[in-house]
Amino acid sequence: MKDRMAPLIIPIFLPAIGCRERCLFCNQKALAGELPSPLSVRNFIEASLPALPSEAKEREKQIAFYGGSFTAIHRDNQVSYLKEVQPFLVSGLIDSIRISTRPDALDEETLSLLKQYGVKTIEVGVQSMIDEVLLLARRGHCAAHAVDVVSRLKNKNFEVGLQLMIGLPGDTLDRFFQTLDRVIELKPDFLRIHPTLVLKGAPLEDLWRAGEYSPMPLIEAIQWLKKGIVKLENSSVSVARIGLQPTKELQRDYLAGPYHPALHQLVDSAIFLDMATSLLQRFQENGQAIFSCHPKEVSNLRGQKNENLLKLKKDFNVSEISIEERQELPKGFLGLQTREGEVSIDRKSLGS
Ligand code: SF4
Repeated sequence: MKDRMAPLIIPIFLPAIGCRERCLFCNQKALAGELPSPLSVRNFIEASLPALPSEAKEREKQIAFYGGSFTAIHRDNQVSYLKEVQPFLVSGLIDSIRISTRPDALDEETLSLLKQYGVKTIEVGVQSMIDEVLLLARRGHCAAHAVDVVSRLKNKNFEVGLQLMIGLPGDTLDRFFQTLDRVIELKPDFLRIHPTLVLKGAPLEDLWRAGEYSPMPLIEAIQWLKKGIVKLENSSVSVARIGLQPTKELQRDYLAGPYHPALHQLVDSAIFLDMATSLLQRFQENGQAIFSCHPKEVSNLRGQKNENLLKLKKDFNVSEISIEERQELPKGFLGLQTREGEVSIDRKSLGS
């Protein structure tokens, strides 16, 4: 469930030109393409503005420098890029700037520079809060860096997003949960979580080809994410995205791992399957089931190609399942009609 109104983003992808070493999983070309010039950034913004959706007037509009670690590139380059955005901020065509970077590239001087040029949102690649996982991923920083930087960003009133990964070497479900516990304590404004993929040219490709790394199967990634998302929702931490954006570069360089362009929806469908299963385990009657949910949740209940409904029919020997769409029901709720009336379940209860 996305519970925050996300800004409209014009993304500008930068390669990892400032990173001293390459992280195990990083294929900067797959993730970012070639280095743009500041002028091309301005041209890109001008060309992108008319293409924003019709509701743009009411929504916050952000320029986002993604891909590499923005604050690890040379200071002059950072300033050049930020300067190109200033006329759009002054004219009101753009409301704010976001950058993504690594936890150990945000010293006080850098934060002052970002404030000065109107950066509002900083996404920090934390990946894991387990030092052994970070070491194996060749991140070059430890969990303490993330703790320190989040508190400094919050003190300076930046909006803070954290990026996490699952399925890195040395990662386990228990370690993912430890990571979530520590991240929840940090109270970020939002999270992004994506599974580890093997990309062409990333150091991880060598390990994978040598049989020393096995990517997580998609079904396992969905199970981890399902439990993680419910835990986060119970902690009121917003999840902005699950899974990487399906860019053409990613599709070109993807080799292995749990990639799906609609991963978030698969996770939501898995949550709804658990909710429906819980209701039918307790209240299944006479070979039929009538569920009710918000209209926007029907596809989550059905699952891709109706696979949730087919599984429920088989597991509970139900011949017919119908779904009532009810606008007044809150998202995240599922109702089931019984002889005694309607019973319901909230997705948050799966975490208890
Ligand atoms: S910090 Fe980010 S951009 Fe730099 S090498 Fe690691 S994953 Fe790539």
